[in-house]
This record gives sequence, structure tokens and C-alpha cells, in this order.
Amino acid sequence: MGGVIVGKCIFCNSEGPFTTIEHIIPESLGNTDDILERDGVCDSCQKYFGKEIEQYVLSKSCLGFYRVLLNIKTKKNREPIFDLSRPEKNSGKIPSYHPRSDYGLKFFPYNGDDANRIEVEIVEDERFNKMLADNKIEIVMTPYMVVNIGRFLGKIALELLFKGIGDGVFDEQYEALRRYSRYGTSNEIWPLLHGVLKDPIHNWEADGGDTESRLIYRYSIFELKRYQNLVIFLFDIGSERYGIVCNQKFPNPRVVDQLIDVDGNKVQFIWYPNFR
Ligand SMILES: [Zn+2]
Repeated sequence: MGGVIVGKCIFCNSEGPFTTIEHIIPESLGNTDDILERDGVCDSCQKYFGKEIEQYVLSKSCLGFYRVLLNIKTKKNREPIFDLSRPEKNSGKIPSYHPRSDYGLKFFPYNGDDANRIEVEIVEDERFNKMLADNKIEIVMTPYMVVNIGRFLGKIALELLFKGIGDGVFDEQYEALRRYSRYGTSNEIWPLLHGVLKDPIHNWEADGGDTESRLIYRYSIFELKRYQNLVIFLFDIGSERYGIVCNQKFPNPRVVDQLIDVDGNKVQFIWYPNFR
């Protein structure tokens, strides 16, 4: 069976087949290097994450904004869109709508020279007039958004762990995140880490030669040895830092004191109560 590897999927425990290459970071964020070569994630889980999690996170959550600002095209060379339409209604128990959040806009890349400009389509006039009057757009991280960003980060973190420690990712300490990433939750939301970076990471910088480059994203995964061996995954995009604690759903909230980096960037927990 050329090109087919039979192993165990880190998300659903099925024995494959693994016939397609898994991108640890979505290709829609420009990733071509961080991959799993037909190993670790079965075809149906790959399909599931792409369709159910990444598509939402990269076009309807706050991360989608940066795809538009930086004009990161999809692998099929389609333009990104940040779709801030009003959610139709809350599906299931996890609220996807918040009355204080601004809705009714769609954002597209601006195809001109001005790198800090984007195009906006106004779907709801009334709401837009309020945004103009307030001179700001307020996006509330709804519970639904927190769940999906958490599952998105969890999936990336687990695949990175698999790449680093192999079958160690089947260890019991990661069981909860493996399930949460793949199957979600109907009541208990995994807290997210979030912070605003002092400097955005996407500024153009000289490469050394005549060329310039900029970062779309960067990440780190590490163990806090002095703090219950918590395994932390941090993901930066634009001027924001997102993260998740991989091996404990509800750690001591004060762990954030240990997560101030050398540049003084801080994170805090976005923590929702349980839904019943
Ligand atoms: Zn699977």
C-alpha cells in the first residue's frame, strides 16, 4: 500500500488510513512547512477540522481580521474575508451572539498600495452608523468563539506535541484536550489565554539583502516546570496573542503571572462559566 501509513489517529484513535498530508497550521495562514506526513491524523479528522473549525476561526473569529489585513489567500488562491455578519441564531447551548458585539460588516483586502487599508461592505446600515458615531468596532469574544478558537489551538498544539514526543501525546494528561479539540463541548468551555502584543508581529522588516519580509504568525509550546508542569501553547497573529493550557482545563488562574515574556507581553484568561 504505497503512501498509506497505518497508525493511530491522535484525535479519534482510529487506525487510519492516513493518505493526505496534515498541515499543523492551516495552509490558509500561509503554512507550507509545519506538516505531518501521513502520520498521526486520519483523513476524516483532517477533513473535519478543516471544514468545521478552521473555516470558522479564519473567517468569522477575530483571527480572520488579520487574514484580511495581511491579505493571506487560501490555498486555492481565493481572497480572505472576515465575515462579521450577525449570527443567525444560537445553535445549541453555546451562545454565538452577544448583544453588545458589533455585527453587520464584511471585510475584504484592499488591492492597492496602502498596506494598512481594508475594504468594508456594510450589511446593516443602522449598526454601522452607531460604529461611526462611536468611532470604533467592538467585537465580543462570544462563548462560541472561545470554544472554536480553543479547539483550533488545541488541535495545533496536539499535532505539535505529536511531532515532538510521538505517542506521548496519547498520555492521559492530554486526553481531555484531544477530546475537546475533536468533539467540542456542550457546557464546559476550556479557558483561552489572550493578550495584546506591545508590537504587532506583521511589520515589514529587512531580510539582510534587498528584500523585506513579515511574519504572519509565530508560536511556542513549552512546559512550565515550576508550575505543576503545565504545558502551554501560545500563538501570535497580528497584534494579538492567543493560547491554551494543554494538560489542565482549569489551572490556577495565577499561572498567567508566569507567562509574561521577555518583551513584557502579558496574557489573561478568557474564562466563561459553565452552560447548562
Ligand atoms: Zn481521526
